[in-house]
Amino acid sequence: MSRLPVMTSKRVLTSSSSSENSQDMAPAQKKLRKDPEPVKPHAAATIIGGKRPPVAATRAPISRSVRAVGAATVAVGPSRGVLKPSVASAAPKGGNMKQTAAPTGTKPGGGGTKRHAWDLKGKVSDMEGKLRNYQSKVKSVNEENDILKGTMVQSKMRVTEMERELKRQQSQISEYEDELHALSGVRDKLEKVSSDKSTLQKELSNLEGKYKVMETLRDSQETELQTLTVKLSVLESTLARLQGTLRDTEEEVRSLKETVAEQKDELHAGEMERRRLHNTIQELKGNIRVFCRVRPLVDGGLSKHIQLPTSDIKTITLAKTEESHTGKTADTQKNYNFNFDRVFGPGASQQEVFEEISLLVQSALDGYNVCCFAYGQTGSGKTYTMEGDEFDKTRGVIPRAVQQIFRAAEKLATQGWEFTFTASFVEIYNETLRDLLYTGKASKRPEHEIRKSTNNEVTITNLTYEKVSNEDQVLGLIALANQNRSTAQTAQNDRSSRSHSVFQLDIEGVNAGRDVKCKSTLCLVDLAGSERMLKSQSQGERFKEMTAINGSLSNLGIVISALANKPDVCEHRPGVRQFWGNPQLLEVRQQGERLCNWDCECQQEVVRRA
Ligand code: ADP
Ligand code: MG
Repeated sequence: MSRLPVMTSKRVLTSSSSSENSQDMAPAQKKLRKDPEPVKPHAAATIIGGKRPPVAATRAPISRSVRAVGAATVAVGPSRGVLKPSVASAAPKGGNMKQTAAPTGTKPGGGGTKRHAWDLKGKVSDMEGKLRNYQSKVKSVNEENDILKGTMVQSKMRVTEMERELKRQQSQISEYEDELHALSGVRDKLEKVSSDKSTLQKELSNLEGKYKVMETLRDSQETELQTLTVKLSVLESTLARLQGTLRDTEEEVRSLKETVAEQKDELHAGEMERRRLHNTIQELKGNIRVFCRVRPLVDGGLSKHIQLPTSDIKTITLAKTEESHTGKTADTQKNYNFNFDRVFGPGASQQEVFEEISLLVQSALDGYNVCCFAYGQTGSGKTYTMEGDEFDKTRGVIPRAVQQIFRAAEKLATQGWEFTFTASFVEIYNETLRDLLYTGKASKRPEHEIRKSTNNEVTITNLTYEKVSNEDQVLGLIALANQNRSTAQTAQNDRSSRSHSVFQLDIEGVNAGRDVKCKSTLCLVDLAGSERMLKSQSQGERFKEMTAINGSLSNLGIVISALANKPDVCEHRPGVRQFWGNPQLLEVRQQGERLCNWDCECQQEVVRRA
């Protein structure tokens, strides 16, 4: 396409059309000379003109005009494939033209002579020769032109064809581009797919590895399974045998359970019977019991005024020397005998004393209210008896009673009893109550009052009631109470000897399985010193304290004697003994109502008397 000699052929046509006029050739020639460059790139389209004339001139020197005509030789180079032969054919023609031109050019000067002016004929013949020459040139040029025209038509067709081809190829290129674009997407996909593939291959190889491991495992498990199957069959036969045994054992267990239930019933009945009998014993011993404990002198031994008969553990004799009124007779010694439920001499241990009280402590756990007072002069050993000291041997009634209660409650738990214990510790000083378990600020210490509820329960307002579940907790509370007591007293005022301290343990027991409850209070009281006012000759604050102490002690005496003198037979059925505080009384069948205990079986409502 790029080699088509379009421009060249036009020039040829131009020169051809003006071939008639030789003078017109010159401009054409000039044109060709002036613009040889655009033709140069067309390898096969060679314009010869500029160089040839000098060659021809060397062969035959011609006149200026002739040279101009002879130099107007045009050789047209063919396009590739089509024009090559015509170039070959044109070249000789051109060559011929030059050759023919050469003689033409040389003719006037062939002999180096010029026709004479008069030789018109010669000149005419020269002109005719020239004309012929030009005519043959024109003819050959025309032929050449025809060839070129044909070539041009062919070329045009070729151009059209090639343009079509170009368009087709362009559209194909765009198609290819689209395709390429589409393919680039496909390539991305392909890359992704191939990366996925490599991942999956890795996974696959992993899984294959795992699969192999699993296969090995499966093989070993199959072997194990076979072993287990054998074992299982052995075990199944054993199981069948054992099931038979189990049935027998179950039967045995059932009968044993029945026996156990029966025995539990019996045990419970026994426990209730024990309580009843224990209570009966306590009643028979006396609901109010008074023990006397004589402390040893500071250097040990017993005061000479006190006699303790070894044969009688219930009697104490106090000897008093009475001076003769006249002074003539000798002083007489008068003995005063006192009987108690039990008298403990100076050698009696804390354990011995507690053994007597422990029966009452047991009653407290069985649902009876128990109160134990230590009464006596200051220094007579009340606090020692009630609290003792920290050593096991010398521990007093309170820690021992607490220990016994918790141990007994533990045992009763096996029979279905569940106990809750609440402790409180109060001091009564100058008829004022003071909470010994108070832990708040001294300035915010609350005031207390004694209240009696509708069901005859006595409570103290604002008092600390501490739930306790073991012995150590109670011992901690006793220590706290002692600390509280010692902070209240000064060096000049041993307040503890002039105040009552009351330790109270509220006991509540429930046997849910038997639908039985019991509730009681164990009260352990360390009373204030019972000095006689006249002897102590107290004054001022001491006198006030003494008045309060003696007032409270004489009231206590009145209460105890009233209790001691109450009838011990049922008021509904005279002659039948009545037991106060029996747990069955505490099984309140109707709220606020207490029934006479079952021992008298009157089932009458009982009004508790003070
Ligand atoms: P109270 O509380 O009646 O004022 P205490 O219990 O404080 O008297 O006893 C006074 C002193 O006597 C204490 O030092 C105590 O250790 C001692 N004491 C009391 N009773 C006995 C006893 N049975 N054996 C040994 N020492 C005793
Ligand atoms: Mg004391």
